[in-house]
Amino acid sequence: MIYGERVQRLNDEGASGAGRYVLYWMQRAQRATMNHALEFAVRKANELRLPLLAVFGITQRFPEANTRSYAFMLQGLQETERALHERGVQLVVRMQPPVEAVRDLGSEAALVVVDRSYLRVPRRWRARVARRLSCPLVQVESDVVVPVETASSKEEYAAYTIRPKIHEHLDAFLVPLEETALQRDSLGLPGEGVALGDLEALLERMRINRSADRVDTFRGGSSQADELLDDFIAHKLESYADRRNDPSLDYLSHMSPYLHFGQISPLEIALRIRGAEEIGPAKGNGEHPKDAYLEELIVRRELSMNFCAYNPEYDALTCLPDWARETLEAHAGDRREYVYDQRAFEAGRTHDPYWNAAQQEMVLTGKMHGYMRMYWGKKILEWTPSPEEAHRIALELNNRYELDGRDPNGFTGVAWCFGKHDRAWAERDVYGKVRYMSAGGLERKFDIDAYVQKIERLEASQTREG
Ligand code: FAD
Repeated sequence: MIYGERVQRLNDEGASGAGRYVLYWMQRAQRATMNHALEFAVRKANELRLPLLAVFGITQRFPEANTRSYAFMLQGLQETERALHERGVQLVVRMQPPVEAVRDLGSEAALVVVDRSYLRVPRRWRARVARRLSCPLVQVESDVVVPVETASSKEEYAAYTIRPKIHEHLDAFLVPLEETALQRDSLGLPGEGVALGDLEALLERMRINRSADRVDTFRGGSSQADELLDDFIAHKLESYADRRNDPSLDYLSHMSPYLHFGQISPLEIALRIRGAEEIGPAKGNGEHPKDAYLEELIVRRELSMNFCAYNPEYDALTCLPDWARETLEAHAGDRREYVYDQRAFEAGRTHDPYWNAAQQEMVLTGKMHGYMRMYWGKKILEWTPSPEEAHRIALELNNRYELDGRDPNGFTGVAWCFGKHDRAWAERDVYGKVRYMSAGGLERKFDIDAYVQKIERLEASQTREG
């Protein structure tokens, strides 16, 4: 199934016979390959015998975005612009809110095609554009393996409830997407949009939030994502099931920032993992490494899309199931052994060296190890005066410093620390029946001091480099 359930009409306008081009409004899927929205737009342009134009509108005030995230996104767009050019598509990047950029260029389009996002602000953009265009606006879901409504028509309770629903559709959706050549030459609108040649100068000029500096640990762009994925498959996948949780090691794929900015398709990752040379089952828990990876990439990730698509309160504690809300409320007045405010958390100044290392890892590299994210969020709940305050701080820090922040996975991961998609456990202070995590657990399972030392070395080397 290549298009079908991925496609949705967002307005009732009829096709405009007078349009000069088909417009692809690139928003979430910021790539030139394995992009269902782009391929759909190419086919429509060919059917209508029109050229294809692409537009990307940059709002300088995207909630919680800052220098760190803009730099990564622009690095990716620079590459995508070149790759689209090679396919005969001009990408117009405008320093203008997307709604305005698309309304302007959409006024001469026969059809506008957009990818899909699950979060509030970009959904609102689509609704506004849909009202303002006088040609059809079609949305093509390009950043999940199984379309959200195909997997389930309601908010799912947990991974175990969505897993069989996703698996039922995998054979139909885990299929490669063929590229179609454009029949008409690029339109070539000279002088349109901002030049992406000198990103340093562009970033300097932009009026953006500067609360988190750029990092050079991860560079944005589809080719970087490809290289990291090759390296993961060649050297890490075999041990993923056994070693992915260990923060002192690095057995992760690092795909999340690239997935967040749509610089790589989850379908492409899944197909490459499935097609990787046969590797034996992991030694430890017997889980096959490919299955372990696809469970995270597809089931867990698409559970988070399901959550944000169906639950409008995905960024508030009201998103929790009743049992979690009730138990946290019942324990809201419990005495906390340690209490920190946001500044202490942000500076990594708690009594706990493991927590501080995790916070530093995020601040310095833009990506905290996945296992430490759980511990990090749980401890914010434990050391803050109220669950509401803890939830707010966790989300704010996550979204400011993680390169993959402001993503359905981030809203879901933070909510998970407070009981979302989980079950009730033995009752204790502060947490109530919400799952607890301890420093002792880290010490038992891993060489956690090696993790702390790794982060200390990183900090020292960054201080030396100035
Ligand atoms: P890998 O282990 O290599 O996984 C591959 C892919 O599978 C990931 O890129 C991701 O898309 C998916 N995946 C892995 N673990 C999870 C998970 N637990 N839930 C959903 N999908 C998963 N993820 C983000 O993308 N953005 C966030 O802002 C974010 N914040 C989080 C905050 C907290 C408190 C927690 C507990 C989790 C958060 N996660 C977030 C989920 C997860 O930790 C990251 O996706 C993962 O660490 C990304 O690193 P990776 O790509 O190297 O992971």
